[in-house]
Amino acid sequence: MKRIFTFCTVILMLFASAAYAFADETETTSECVVESNTLHRGDTVEVSVVLSNCPKLKSMGIIPTYDSDVFELVSAEWLLIGAFIENFDAEKEVASVAFVNEVDANGKVLTFTLRVKDDAAFGETSIHPKMSVRNGTETYACTEVETKLTIACKHNFTDCWNNDDECHWQKCQVEGCEATAEEGEHVYDNACDAVCNICEYTRTIEHTYSTVWSSDGTQHWHACVVCGEKKDVEAHKFVEVAENAYLASEANCKSPAVYYKSCSICGAKGVETFTFAGVNSEKHTGNTEVKDAVEATCTTDGYTGDIYCKDCGSLLQEGTVIKAGHSYSEEYKSDEEKHWKECECGCKDAEESHQFGDWKVTKKATATEAGSKERSCSVCGYVQSEAIAATGTGQEDNPTTGDDMTWIYLLGIALSCGVGSITLYNKKRQKQ
Ligand SMILES: [Zn+2]
Ligand SMILES: [Zn+2]
Ligand SMILES: [Zn+2]
Ligand SMILES: [Zn+2]
Ligand SMILES: [Zn+2]
Ligand SMILES: [Zn+2]
Ligand SMILES: [Zn+2]
Repeated sequence: MKRIFTFCTVILMLFASAAYAFADETETTSECVVESNTLHRGDTVEVSVVLSNCPKLKSMGIIPTYDSDVFELVSAEWLLIGAFIENFDAEKEVASVAFVNEVDANGKVLTFTLRVKDDAAFGETSIHPKMSVRNGTETYACTEVETKLTIACKHNFTDCWNNDDECHWQKCQVEGCEATAEEGEHVYDNACDAVCNICEYTRTIEHTYSTVWSSDGTQHWHACVVCGEKKDVEAHKFVEVAENAYLASEANCKSPAVYYKSCSICGAKGVETFTFAGVNSEKHTGNTEVKDAVEATCTTDGYTGDIYCKDCGSLLQEGTVIKAGHSYSEEYKSDEEKHWKECECGCKDAEESHQFGDWKVTKKATATEAGSKERSCSVCGYVQSEAIAATGTGQEDNPTTGDDMTWIYLLGIALSCGVGSITLYNKKRQKQ
């Protein structure tokens, strides 16, 4: 059902358009056809005159019609075949053609060439073919369709800036063209930049000067807070003002306080100095010397000495007594019998007999060779050594020590010489 309806609609539409086309065909029209509707000064353009819906004819005249301020006609040429007259009157700018028999002349019938004048006004213009179509004495009405063309400028914006207080723009350099480009507000680096970075327009600016002085070693000035521009530049006026801000060195017992000179206008600290008021006897320089120092001996007291200020001679600190007293060595000194500690002066302290441990055999005695033994003091480390007599032939295994043998030997002597000799021997042995 739907398909049938669609089909009927299409049929109706085709009929309607055919009816319209038929109505159209009754009217003879001619128009100018060009390749491009946009033209430039100096361009040469070929225009084709196209005839449509025209009944058979015997002759035809065409006057190319245009604005003569914009175009000039260069040439014209008929495209029809079989004419017995075919000409173009360049002076009157009229093209005419005639045939013996009537012909069908629909389609391109004539081309003519126009040149856009070098001073043609920019903008819209139009052309049309002024027609005269005849068949013998009968003249056909013909609708001449206007063709609109635009004469455009090939702009030239080469770096020619225009400007006002706020903006800049480029204007086309071609005469008669009012086109503009690159329009925008001026561009400055900062509030104090007077020249636009793009168009170089120069404006008047007002710097924002600081109320606080700026300065270097020799001058002071007020500087712009934005760009640093200086004004009120003048040399410092140095005066002597003893304020903490200008203090170079404090007063002490030797020298008065030293201040830098300062500018009375901007307050800048100078390089030159001046002294102010007297010395300060309470504040010493720190240079000291020690007087009346006495070294202590083993028997007499010494003195550390008094500390004086080297610059003003004031007594800063009294010394203290250094007690007399021997100074004993850490190490023990010893002889065969005793050990002690000794002062440099020769005095002895903690003197006592060695405290020997047990003997230790360091070499066993044999039948023919003497051995040895030793013992040491547990306090000072003194080592006492003694020989062990040889045991004699066949006696190697005898456990009796050399020492025992000595005593046996001595016992014999003692029996003959008495106890006194034994004591003497013992003392001798210890001294070995
Ligand atoms: Zn232009
Ligand atoms: Zn600018
Ligand atoms: Zn500034
Ligand atoms: Zn100053
Ligand atoms: Zn002092
Ligand atoms: Zn001493
Ligand atoms: Zn000892």
